[in-house]
Amino acid sequence: MTKGIAPVTKNEIVEVIIEDLTHEGAGVAKIDGYALFIPKALPGERARVKVIKVNKGYGFGKLIEVIEKSDERIDDIPCPIFQNCGGCQLQHLSYEGQLKQKQKQVRDVLERIGKITDVTVHPTLGMSEPWRYRNKAQVPFADREGGLVAGFYQERSHEIIDMNACLIQHEENDKVVQAVKEVASKFGVRGYDEKSHKGTLRHVVARYGVNTGQLMVVLVTRSKELPNKTNLIEEIREKLPNVTSIVQNINTKRTNVIFGDQTVVLWGEDYIYDMIGDVKFAISARSFYQVNPEQTKVLYDKALDYAELNGSETVIDAYCGIGTISLFLAQKAKHVYGVEIVPEAIDDAKRNAKLNGMTNVDFAVGGAEKVIPWWYTQGIRADTIVVDPPRKGCDDALLDTIIKMKPKRVVYVSCNPATLARDLRVLEDGGYKTVEVQPVDMFPHTTHVECCSLLIYEGK
Ligand code: SAH
Repeated sequence: MTKGIAPVTKNEIVEVIIEDLTHEGAGVAKIDGYALFIPKALPGERARVKVIKVNKGYGFGKLIEVIEKSDERIDDIPCPIFQNCGGCQLQHLSYEGQLKQKQKQVRDVLERIGKITDVTVHPTLGMSEPWRYRNKAQVPFADREGGLVAGFYQERSHEIIDMNACLIQHEENDKVVQAVKEVASKFGVRGYDEKSHKGTLRHVVARYGVNTGQLMVVLVTRSKELPNKTNLIEEIREKLPNVTSIVQNINTKRTNVIFGDQTVVLWGEDYIYDMIGDVKFAISARSFYQVNPEQTKVLYDKALDYAELNGSETVIDAYCGIGTISLFLAQKAKHVYGVEIVPEAIDDAKRNAKLNGMTNVDFAVGGAEKVIPWWYTQGIRADTIVVDPPRKGCDDALLDTIIKMKPKRVVYVSCNPATLARDLRVLEDGGYKTVEVQPVDMFPHTTHVECCSLLIYEGK
């Protein structure tokens, strides 16, 4: 390839061999060293591709025809909306293939970004039945000529495509969306129109406590007004007998953020409950709670296993959310300190500790990178630190404090292998050894991958 000049032109049809898969799930072909990204193409395949975008160093293609198919390709994709929705990226790849791909992705990133090579990256722990796993649905509503629609935004547009079922969503959540669509239509509740900022119903959020059977319905509306409220509630309850909570959230802003600041209970409780293992959690409309409860148990069990607790340890759980991992650890540790930046989440965490009769936990509101260094100056020393940061990973100030505090074990739970790799490098340079990494498939059919890693302090 001549430097700076792409070997293909827009609209050209080329025949290529797919060599790899990106983290976004697109196939990668090389033409004289020039990378072409082709969504829905799989490694090993020979394919006819239309070039649709040509950038300087790489381009994009559209799959026209698979000439030689990968053994891992799934032809009879069960989901009717897969081609348009964009919520899942990997349904065309066998589930075994997805799990292998995620393991490979983690191994590659650890090596490339973290320069970590002598580490065991285990095969990804997957689900035996990788469908219908999500316990939370957030579905946009709108008005069309034929009535209310509820579904998903077509890729790269604000057009809502009506949907009857989402196969990675729990059936109960699908039922909520269909029930609200019917009832709201019947009582003349209009869908929200983002252009004119008129109409009522913006989103319906459904939350299901898979292990308790309790269901929460959240109606997100543009203003406080909700026409025919009493009838609406009554019929939702009739259609969905296991509803225990119906709440309204009011979002008055012109924004694509789902929730507004005000939440009012229309009927029942403001919480539903769920269990992970033996620990019970109260979940409110806006609480962060892992969306795949079955795999959450697998992930937390791994974290607990890596923490190797015998009842004498002090543990810190950084980025603790509503205290899920903290309470899991508190079953086996002497004392757990949890820290989290969202005050409401800490209120939930404290409530959850009480709910489970656990007195060996303390929760603090604040940035982990501020609170943990402060704890350090106060003489708090942990035997184990668990971190579970958001996608951007841990702040340097936190990593520095971990290196100073020198807990024997660090258990790093991560939803982003790239920032995980970056942070593991810092910890390795500070005297830790990454012993093993366990990818866990929390989001089958999507490109997301979660990891639980064990580090042990070896000294410099
Ligand atoms: N461990 C929890 C939550 C993990 S999600 C669980 O498994 O359910 C990451 C959490 O980190 C979120 O709750 C987010 O609010 C919180 N967070 C983000 N930035 C933070 C910071 N600087 N310090 C502490 N917590 C933070």
